[in-house]
Amino acid sequence: MSDPSLIARNLETIRTRIATAARNVGRDPEAITLIAVSKTHPKEAVLAAMAAGASVFGENRVQEAASKFPIAGAKLHIIGGLQTNKAEQAVRLADSIDSLDRPRLADAIARAAEAAGRLPELLVQVNIGDEPQKSGIPTAEADAFIRLMRARFGTALQGLMCIPPAEGDPTPFFHKLAAMADTHGLPVRSMGMSGDYESAIAAGATHIRIGTAIFGHRDLPA
Ligand SMILES: *Cc1c(COP(=O)(O)O)cnc(C)c1O
Repeated sequence: MSDPSLIARNLETIRTRIATAARNVGRDPEAITLIAVSKTHPKEAVLAAMAAGASVFGENRVQEAASKFPIAGAKLHIIGGLQTNKAEQAVRLADSIDSLDRPRLADAIARAAEAAGRLPELLVQVNIGDEPQKSGIPTAEADAFIRLMRARFGTALQGLMCIPPAEGDPTPFFHKLAAMADTHGLPVRSMGMSGDYESAIAAGATHIRIGTAIFGHRDLPA
């Protein structure tokens, strides 16, 4: 699905809903960054979203991202689990890597950043529901890991990212991530997707990651 007028309408609807959700809790809608998740969708869909005002995009896979980006005027977040052998390409391509979740990946990113002479912004992904199948640092290890990453990467470490359990109310998990970010004085909380972004905004999300509600359903598993 990359019908430009449908993408534009979807974005308009989402912007309205972001504004309402923010105002309902006394927050400034401008303080919320919409990451348009374009994984599995073609570059034409990205360009259509840009024409409708989107400027920040999220991709799960580095190789797929490299087939569409860089695009002048677009920012790219890598939001999917990152293999260490993809760190070099991710560091060259991304404005932000949002899935930093283990020491070996930190090593690979640090090495790649030195070689490339650039360090993207970084988010630590927390496995906020401690689900065995999910990536992210387990909650019990998160504080120590975040401190280490802060010491290593300084202000490039911007914040935290999570994907709450698919079943049940995500709000307690959103609050938990926001509290963790507060504890560490980190400005960014990336949480909330197509189905739950209004709850995430109410709980303090600064970045929401929306795919399906902008681009439609994905044919391929991602
Ligand atoms: C795919 C994906 C999203 C977007 O999900 P939708 O439900 O399509 O909005 C957000 N975050 C991550 C990490 C994803 O992999």
